[in-house]
Amino acid sequence: MTTHHGTPKDAAAMILLRNPQDPEVFWVKRSMQLAFMGGFHAFPGGQRDAADSAVPVTNCDDVDEAALRVCAAREIFEEAGVLVARGVERLTAQRIAELREEMHADRLSFPALLNQEGLVIDADLLLEAPRWVTPPPAPRRFNTYFYAAWVPPCADGVQPSHVIPGELESGEWNRPREAYEKWRRGEVLLAPPVFVPIRELARGVEGFTERLFQITPEEQLRTQGIEFRYGFNMVALRTPTIPPATHTNCYLIGGDEMVVIDPGSPYEEEQQKLDVVIEKLLADGRRIREIIITHLHPDHIGGVMHLSERFQLPVAAHRLTAEAISEAVRVDRFIEDNEIIELSGGQRDPDLHWRLRALWSPGHARGHLSFYEERTGSLITGDCIVGMGTVVIAPPEGNMKDYLASLERLLELPCLTALFPAHGPVLANTRGKIEEYIHHRLEREAMIVQALSEVPLSIPEIVKNVYTDVPEAMHKLAALSVQAHLEKLVADARAIKRDERYALL
Ligand SMILES: [Zn+2]
Repeated sequence: MTTHHGTPKDAAAMILLRNPQDPEVFWVKRSMQLAFMGGFHAFPGGQRDAADSAVPVTNCDDVDEAALRVCAAREIFEEAGVLVARGVERLTAQRIAELREEMHADRLSFPALLNQEGLVIDADLLLEAPRWVTPPPAPRRFNTYFYAAWVPPCADGVQPSHVIPGELESGEWNRPREAYEKWRRGEVLLAPPVFVPIRELARGVEGFTERLFQITPEEQLRTQGIEFRYGFNMVALRTPTIPPATHTNCYLIGGDEMVVIDPGSPYEEEQQKLDVVIEKLLADGRRIREIIITHLHPDHIGGVMHLSERFQLPVAAHRLTAEAISEAVRVDRFIEDNEIIELSGGQRDPDLHWRLRALWSPGHARGHLSFYEERTGSLITGDCIVGMGTVVIAPPEGNMKDYLASLERLLELPCLTALFPAHGPVLANTRGKIEEYIHHRLEREAMIVQALSEVPLSIPEIVKNVYTDVPEAMHKLAALSVQAHLEKLVADARAIKRDERYALL
């Protein structure tokens, strides 16, 4: 089921601060297993609960604003163990920890806890910051209200904070400047739009929420795309692609010098969206070196010529891709396997550079290229690995044996911290995802071998036999996939084709 066109769910997140003399901000690392932003650093937060509206909030007349503040206060208590409420100065750290345990064990609800301890949620304790709506192509969407709060002291000093491992892997206090440096150097992936408050905090805690309101998240998205990692901007553009995906992610990578990977949309209004982002980058004094194509499919090349002509940009691709698309796209330069594309940080980031290693990764397409940024361990996967839907291996362009070899090659990369796919969200669970892909294909292969072990079968017969979990409408694609598996089995000398049927050797 896809929910990407559904209404975003209300959520709240807390920008928690402590120690006004030398301020620190709290962030958490989300567990790899979480479907939404797993492995990313974020502010603690979560979905609005029906019971959140049951709590009275002082200094707030709006029912929804009150409930969202309660949501933020509840989440920061559940996730970090910090009570942001009036009256907490009467409780000891020990007592606060006990209450949290009661809540975790479901023996006490948050409204009951506040009531029992005589605590009051005061809107004045939770400063409002701009709201962020997860943009449409994301499979899960939230309408997140951000609040900033200082940790209120408890009876015996500063409230301790710690994360209970589970949904969250860890929690950490950082001086805002240190947090921003970790982000800038590419050491953490931040759930959007977390880097924006971090950056503003690094400029000074005083008045940072007011400064955040000067550029709305919508405007930011429109002019900059989404920066999942410093120097990696994603602009998701609607393309004629394969459902459930509806968009192709175009990536702008680098510092002072950047490359554009897969401007794939053939639609004018989508191309204009990308133009706006590129114009902003140019206005900021950056230079775009070239357009890079990962592979030949229409949803990856649809906007290449428009962009090339609009900004006078050369186009680069693998030779096999260039030959296949020569009628639609003029490719100026071939990219070789293992070629390094080095992009400097320039004056903005003199200590940084981006080193993209081109990895020829055929399987989905003959001339498919992935790009491995060596400093940060980021992999631009094209259609080799996607964040949503499945990768189609359709012969003759597709080749299962090559595809598995390509996946194995990616798995061997020395350091892999994030996958930037052409469709769907950025993934932090890198090796897990690649292993899952390999496992899935080998499992299918084993099922086909099993089916053939009894009697020679034709492709449609195998589809009926093996793809029982796939709806009829998908059987055409499944047949191509079966063909790809069979071709691999033949190449591996494990099967043979006689007339229209395949038999095991
Ligand atoms: Zn493709």
